[in-house]
Amino acid sequence: MTRTYEEQPSLTIDGAGAETTERTEVVNPASGEVFATAPAATPELLDRAVRASVAAFPAWERDEDARRTALRTIAGALVDATDRIAVTLTLEQGKPLAESKGEVAAAAGWLEYLANLELPAQVVQDDERVYSRAVRRAIGPVAAIAPWNYPIFIGMAKVGTALRAGNTVVWKPSPFTPLSTLIVGELLRDLLPAGVVNVLAGGDELGAWMTTHPQIRKVSFTGSIATGKKIAAATAGDLKRLTLELGGNDAAIVLDDADVEFVAEGLFAAAFSSAGQACVAPKRVYVDRSLYADVVDALVARAEKVVVGNGLEPETTMGPLNNAAQRDRVDELVTGALAAGARAATVTGAGDDTPIVAEEQFGPALPVMPFDSVDEAVRRANGTMYGLGSSVWGSDLDRATAVAERLEAGNCWVNSHRDIAPHQPFSGRKWSGLGVEGGVWGLEDVTDVQFIRRPKH
Ligand code: NAD
Repeated sequence: MTRTYEEQPSLTIDGAGAETTERTEVVNPASGEVFATAPAATPELLDRAVRASVAAFPAWERDEDARRTALRTIAGALVDATDRIAVTLTLEQGKPLAESKGEVAAAAGWLEYLANLELPAQVVQDDERVYSRAVRRAIGPVAAIAPWNYPIFIGMAKVGTALRAGNTVVWKPSPFTPLSTLIVGELLRDLLPAGVVNVLAGGDELGAWMTTHPQIRKVSFTGSIATGKKIAAATAGDLKRLTLELGGNDAAIVLDDADVEFVAEGLFAAAFSSAGQACVAPKRVYVDRSLYADVVDALVARAEKVVVGNGLEPETTMGPLNNAAQRDRVDELVTGALAAGARAATVTGAGDDTPIVAEEQFGPALPVMPFDSVDEAVRRANGTMYGLGSSVWGSDLDRATAVAERLEAGNCWVNSHRDIAPHQPFSGRKWSGLGVEGGVWGLEDVTDVQFIRRPKH
C-alpha cells in the first residue's frame, strides 16, 4: 500500500509548537522506506522545555481537581483521535492497525483509572501528645523516556502517572517511533496548562541530555537493560529519583496437569502479539516432558495460521519487526540456536546457554524445552539476571500458584501471561528494573514522602 504521509507534527514546548531545523528520518518497517521526517530537539530546546516544566510545576502541584479533570479530558481526546494516532503508529512501528487502536484504547483506560485513584495521607501518630502524618509530595519535572514497542501506551502511562501525582513532564519517544507521540503532544496543547507536558523528539543523545539536566528531578524510563544502567549511572550524580522498567526474558512453566490447548492458546497470543516485541512476552517455555511434544504441536498449529504483512492490510495478523537491527538480532539468535542443535518447529531443543534462551530475543521466536522435575524447571527459570514476568500453567491452581511464588520475577501469572492492568503493580526484579508502575504503587513511585509532626498543645 502506498500513501502520502500528510502529518507534520512538531515539538511541543510550553503549550505551543516549537520549530527546529534538525530532523531525523522515520522508516516504515513494512517497506523499509523513509516515509516521513521528525523534528529533533537541540540542547537549547530541551532547556526551554525544562524551564517551562519548572515554571508550570507550583500551580499544577496545588490543584488536584484540575489534574483529575485533565486526565479524563485527555483520555477522551485520545479516544476521539484513535484513528489518526493509530495509523501513524502502524506506519512507524509496524504493528497491525487493530493492535495500534488497542494500544490507544489501553492508554486512555490507564488515564481514566489514574483520574479516580486516591493516594491519601497516612496518619502516623494521633494521641494526646502528637498528631503526625506521612504525605506524598510531587517531585518536580519528570523526564519520561519511552521505547519503540508501545510508544503511546508506555509513554502515556508514565506521563499520566507523573501528572496525577502533581509533577510536570518532558516526554521523549524513541527515535524509531516519534510521530505518534508528537501527535499526542499536539492534542495536549489545548488540554493542559502551558509547560505541564512538553514533548520532544530526538535521538538517544536527547535522552542522555535529559537524564543529566539539573532541573529534571526524576527519570521514568522504559527500555533496554543496557540503557537503564547508563541512566542509573548518569542520574547518580545529583540523586534524581528513578523508575527503570527494563528488558525481560520471561519463563513460562507448563506443569504435567496443564490443558495443552488452553496453554498453547494463551502462550501463543502472549508470545507472538506485536511480533514478540514486548517486554513481558513469554520468551522461554519449560514443559513437563510428558506434555512436551503435544505443546510444541499445538504451538506450531497456531504459528501456521499467522499472516505476516503490512500492518495496514486488514488480513495481517503479525506486522514486521520494527527496525533492521532488531530483525538482524532475532535472525542471528534463531540461526545460532539451529547451529547449536535446536530444531525449528517453532524452536525446540535449545540448551539453557544457547543465546536465544539465555538472552531476550524480542521477536517472533519461542524456544520450548522439556523438564523432568518442578525443581529443575524453577531452577532453570530463575537462572538468569532477568526478572520481569513469568507464568505457571496447570489445572491444580494451588499447586501452580505455589510454583509461581518461587519464581524470581516481578510479575507471576497463573494460567495467563502478559496480563497487565492499571490497578496492578508492575515491576522487574534483578536486572529487569527498579521501582514500580501501576496502581497506588506506581503513584508512590513518582512522589517523595513528607513527614509532618505537630504537638497537640
Ligand atoms: P532502548 O534502551 O534502546 O531505548 C529506549 C529509549 O531510551 C529510547 O527513547 C532511546 O532514545 C532512549 N535512550 C537511548 N540511550 C539513552 C541514554 N543514554 N540516556 C537516556 N535515554 C536513552 O530500548 P528500545 O530498543 O527502544 O526498547 C526495547 C527494550 O525495552 C527491550 O529490552 C524491552 O524488553 C524493553 N522494554 C521494557 C518494558 C518494561 O516495562 N519493563 C516495556 C517495554 C520494553
